[in-house]
Amino acid sequence: MRDYQKETERLSRARSLVGNSFPRFGVNKNREIVRLLYEISKREDVPPEELLTSDSPVSFAGLKEYLLKRRFPSTIREDPKLRPYLPGFELSPDNYLRLREGSFYPRRIYIEKSVRDSALAKAFLEAFPKAESSEISDLKEFLSKYGGRGIAEYNKRTETVFIISEDRDFFKLCPCTGRAVPCGYTVFNLSFGCIYECTYCYLQEYTNTPGLIFPANVDHFLSRFSSFRDLPATRGWRGGSRLRIGTGEFSDSLMLDDLTGYSIPLVKFFRGRDDVIFEFKTKSANIGNLLKMEGDENIVVGWSLNPQKVIDSNELYSASLDARIDSARRVLEAGYRVAFHFDPVFYYDGWDDDYRGVIEKIFRVVNPEKIAWISLGTLRFNPALKKIIEARFPGNDILDAEMVLGFDDKLRYPDHLRYRIYRTLIDALNKDSLILPIYLCMEERSMWEKLKLSFPF
Ligand code: SF4
Repeated sequence: MRDYQKETERLSRARSLVGNSFPRFGVNKNREIVRLLYEISKREDVPPEELLTSDSPVSFAGLKEYLLKRRFPSTIREDPKLRPYLPGFELSPDNYLRLREGSFYPRRIYIEKSVRDSALAKAFLEAFPKAESSEISDLKEFLSKYGGRGIAEYNKRTETVFIISEDRDFFKLCPCTGRAVPCGYTVFNLSFGCIYECTYCYLQEYTNTPGLIFPANVDHFLSRFSSFRDLPATRGWRGGSRLRIGTGEFSDSLMLDDLTGYSIPLVKFFRGRDDVIFEFKTKSANIGNLLKMEGDENIVVGWSLNPQKVIDSNELYSASLDARIDSARRVLEAGYRVAFHFDPVFYYDGWDDDYRGVIEKIFRVVNPEKIAWISLGTLRFNPALKKIIEARFPGNDILDAEMVLGFDDKLRYPDHLRYRIYRTLIDALNKDSLILPIYLCMEERSMWEKLKLSFPF
């Protein structure tokens, strides 16, 4: 709550300053100047009042240009036409995320009638005996009556679990992002919502269900899977003779695997197939079920990695870096392959040494030949997420970086910075004439070309 108080105080000072100094500014001009003063004050940790002096321009255009130069110094040097995003604010005590104590424990479990006797429903009821449980006929119908959408509702989502029968949305080609080079990944949409709290998670903006959704009918999907090449979802699939498919798009693949047991039928079904490489993507160390089974080279466990400092402040409740890398070592011993996702990569003072340190840690325990792929992607998100991050995590420092509207209208680091980040990581990964299967996630073709990176699949 201290962060929230500090930032509301900063905002109120920026608002008073603009109101008193520029009483003739209309709503939009006022919003932009307040936003710039607030962001510079937060980034530089100086009171807003110190940012305006008797020498500061007094016209709106002059003042905005002056503040933009201070807010985006390195971007404006490279691209004077930068596109900033300067929205209003949604700071409110209801939107501020209060961290839960202890591990995940839902208060309510809703079970669709058709799966009330499923193993998954029983597992949840046994694991959380103090939770209230109720039967519903259908999630869609339930949500039309009780669905709530908003930041405050999102904050409470882990209090509610829905166990459902999923009929429609199991399987989709990853939509990637406009004008980027797609990697042809196919998403197996198993469960929706996450027990972790990553400051940058796009689900904060995307979710309109006040709870976590777990399908109880994985077998149903698997029974339909043999004809996957005919499914519309695989249109546009590119590269190689094997479909890359994985969970972890709308949730974390293994976050509750000890309870859901999802990995068991999936490994058994996909193991040994020569037409599919299946990936579990995770920030957890929940690999107990995987270790009980025999792995195979077409089953990949992929960890998203960041320096521990970034995990501590941006990937709340997830496993530590060491636990993730140690889990990678253990699944390798069990016969699986591993993947690593440096995504999102954060830019801050000392980022390069920190990320090189992560790469050194990997190579201390992982044989590079067992790495199925490595993806790289810098921090990016839809503009709408900016206010949500700020509201839920007012003390965050990820928004202090220079992020402007990019080629796909998402907020991103500017081109020159992204290039530097990728170059540094690729050089650190491909050391000693090693060439790893590296790809960029959601990047435009010109970035691949500048980096001389070829598509690895
Ligand atoms: S682990 Fe993934 S799905 Fe979960 S909060 Fe973090 S980014 Fe979102």
